[in-house]
Amino acid sequence: TQAHVEAVEAARTLNAFVLETPEKAIEMAKASDARIAAGTAGPLEGAPLGIKDLFCTQGVRATAASKILGEFKPNYESTVTSHLWRDGAVMLGKLNMDEFAMGSSNETSAFGPVVNPWKARGGNQSLTPGGSSGGSAAAVAADLCLGATATDTGGSIRQPAAFTGTVGIKPTYGRCSRWGVVAFASSLDQAGPIAKTVEDAAILLTSMSGHDAKDSTSLDEPVPDFASFVGKSIKGLRVGVPKEYRVDGMPAEIEKLWADGVEWLKAAGCEIVEVSLPHTKYALPAYYIVAPAEASSNLARYDGMRYGLRVPGANLTQTYEQTRAQGFGAEVKRRILIGTYVLSAGYYDAYYLKAQRVRRRIADDFDQAWRTCDVLLTPTAPSAAFALGERMADPVAMYLNDVFTVTTNLAGLPSISIPAGLDAQGLPLGLQLIGRALDEGTVFSVAGAIE
Ligand code: GLN
Repeated sequence: TQAHVEAVEAARTLNAFVLETPEKAIEMAKASDARIAAGTAGPLEGAPLGIKDLFCTQGVRATAASKILGEFKPNYESTVTSHLWRDGAVMLGKLNMDEFAMGSSNETSAFGPVVNPWKARGGNQSLTPGGSSGGSAAAVAADLCLGATATDTGGSIRQPAAFTGTVGIKPTYGRCSRWGVVAFASSLDQAGPIAKTVEDAAILLTSMSGHDAKDSTSLDEPVPDFASFVGKSIKGLRVGVPKEYRVDGMPAEIEKLWADGVEWLKAAGCEIVEVSLPHTKYALPAYYIVAPAEASSNLARYDGMRYGLRVPGANLTQTYEQTRAQGFGAEVKRRILIGTYVLSAGYYDAYYLKAQRVRRRIADDFDQAWRTCDVLLTPTAPSAAFALGERMADPVAMYLNDVFTVTTNLAGLPSISIPAGLDAQGLPLGLQLIGRALDEGTVFSVAGAIE
């Protein structure tokens, strides 16, 4: 823990942490030492972790990287972090992210962007670590922590993992409790870990998962020891390759990596099958209707009364307006406007209801695919890490980066990104595996074989 506390301090230029909690870390590590000495060590005893600033931890400032939460200090603990502490983990601090987890580059944060610890070979340009869990991914990649919590609404665990050469898994919707995690789009939001190896990710996910009566969408299902699947034989498994993920303009290097992945799994004894997910092309438009719709509703609670920031006006309405005008950043306002629009009378049927129907079709496509395969292999993102600033002027170009990840949030399925190679510039690229609902086990076995 001491070494990690020092590493965090020495790496402040990355801007990965928005709050360091060194005293708390040392205190927790001492308690870990005592439990180890007493022979009562938990499965994560003494493991120093970073916590995405979307998770509430009792008495520690939580901002969701927004000005609107101000100095908000929750007096409760998220279920996921309480599981990690129960198992002995140590908290190093809170990690930077896109504001309210809205973004793919960590550039919408009120604390400024996170810098990817990776640089292109021979280049000096600062790159994005991806988003929204950019702080989590950068901190793990730069060895500032052993693992980190993250959340994924449309790819925010997997895309930053791909951009930083780390492992990130979004479990089945409902595996991890959303209680105490600041809401973005509640029907899509899932917590999960970012870690250095598939096995670490499996160990962390086992701890983070489990039924919670405080989240009505939490699944009451047994949690297997996910690490026991890593290293298992995958002989005879059927791996599906969805042809619709071969999108126009995908860099040749990513096509090649995907083909390499297919060869590796063949060599490990898997049967490769081509599958079709015909509604894939509608996933991104459907996501960018459903997610803002839910966000506009969830963010109505920031009214200048209950949390953090208050910019007083002459009356209640003005206070509300000024607080929101000053508290939210541009991307969050864009989402609220889109969300309010698609939910408004007259447009609801044309946009929101249609998007919900598309969502059902996308889930049905996956159900069809599971008749002929056990797991799907795709790239995680259509590019490697891009330069900071490169896409901020064009929100649509930014949204397109989520093309391979949003589908599994819409369908609620588990999906992992594993580092699988480097591009010509020496930057990491990720492959994604998608599994059946509740079948993280198979996802971990195949991920272990690729790693
Ligand atoms: N990039 C996507 C968005 O901006 C996904 C974000 C996320 O998964 N939290 O909505």
